[in-house]
Amino acid sequence: MYADFDLLIPEGLNQALGMIAKSKADTDIAPLGGGTNLVVEMRARGKAAATLLSVGQIADLRGIEIADGRVTMGAATTVSDILRHPRMPDVGSALFESAGVFAGQMVRNTATVAGNICCGSPAADLVPPLLALGASVTLQSQRGERTVPLDKYFTGYKTSVRKPDELLTAISWPVPAGKSASRFYKLGRRKGDAITMVGVSVFIEMAGGVCTTVRIALGAVGPCVMRAGKAEAVLLGKAPTAELIEKAASVAEGECAPIDDIRASGAYRKQQVQVLVRRLLNQTIESLS
Ligand SMILES: Cc1cc2nc3c(=O)[nH]c(=O)nc-3n(C[C@H](O)[C@H](O)[C@H](O)COP(=O)(O)OP(=O)(O)OC[C@H]3O[C@@H](n4cnc5c(N)ncnc54)[C@H](O)[C@@H]3O)c2cc1C
Repeated sequence: MYADFDLLIPEGLNQALGMIAKSKADTDIAPLGGGTNLVVEMRARGKAAATLLSVGQIADLRGIEIADGRVTMGAATTVSDILRHPRMPDVGSALFESAGVFAGQMVRNTATVAGNICCGSPAADLVPPLLALGASVTLQSQRGERTVPLDKYFTGYKTSVRKPDELLTAISWPVPAGKSASRFYKLGRRKGDAITMVGVSVFIEMAGGVCTTVRIALGAVGPCVMRAGKAEAVLLGKAPTAELIEKAASVAEGECAPIDDIRASGAYRKQQVQVLVRRLLNQTIESLS
């Protein structure tokens, strides 16, 4: 059963920011993207925010632009939009891989990028590749606009720095430059429509035979999607030998703290972090040689 709620349908972003301006808590006004998370939760819990504000239908917030060395996606961009963009395999290969294993076609057509970030799930599949790509998010309210690096956005399980009167309006990352590559792998119990047991994404940039940028992001192995900073440090500034890759993978395993649940035990998830980080580092580095 659904609880009662009001639905606000703004004509554009400015009107939406005006509508959410008085919201003091997420239970006052909840932004509604594609509803593939929010509506499912409303039904499961039988309670909802007093008002839903439809932002997934705001045309200005949908689309992918590549300009001035950055890729910028509007908040209402869907998973299918990512898959359809002709340059995404080059400018965001890990994100493209993630979109390709995300849910099924119907959900991909509706689910938005902002909704995936803002649901705050540690298993949200678009977040590890966005972290690996070095993404930032734009938060807007009537008070102004701020840009937050995605690795500073989450503060814990389903919590973030977003204030109740703010909308996440855009996500952007630098166009990968030089000799660089990124990968994503989702470990699930089946190929389609699976909740991720472990998600890993890596981004490597190399120059002169050494790793000049290393980002390793882990999903579903902690309260929120996380960077494995200590594992990244193992490779940064070094030639990526088999020994160092092995060490980085085992350091990443030590950095995460997965729980046991119906999909997998914490111990299995930890072991798979080591396997997948090693595999993705090897694949990414091999693709650069
Ligand atoms: C059958 C099925 C399969 C699924 N498979 C996957 C999967 O493989 N991988 C995966 O990661 N997820 C999956 N999901 C979960 C869900 O589809 C995704 O998390 C999706 O990206 C949510 O996006 P949405 O636009 O539908 O968000 P919504 O449900 O509309 O919103 C989610 C949350 O984000 C907030 N929000 C939305 N937009 C904004 C905004 N612009 N600013 C601030 N807050 C905002 C909402 O208030 C809400 O709290 C699946 C869901 C279903 C039903």
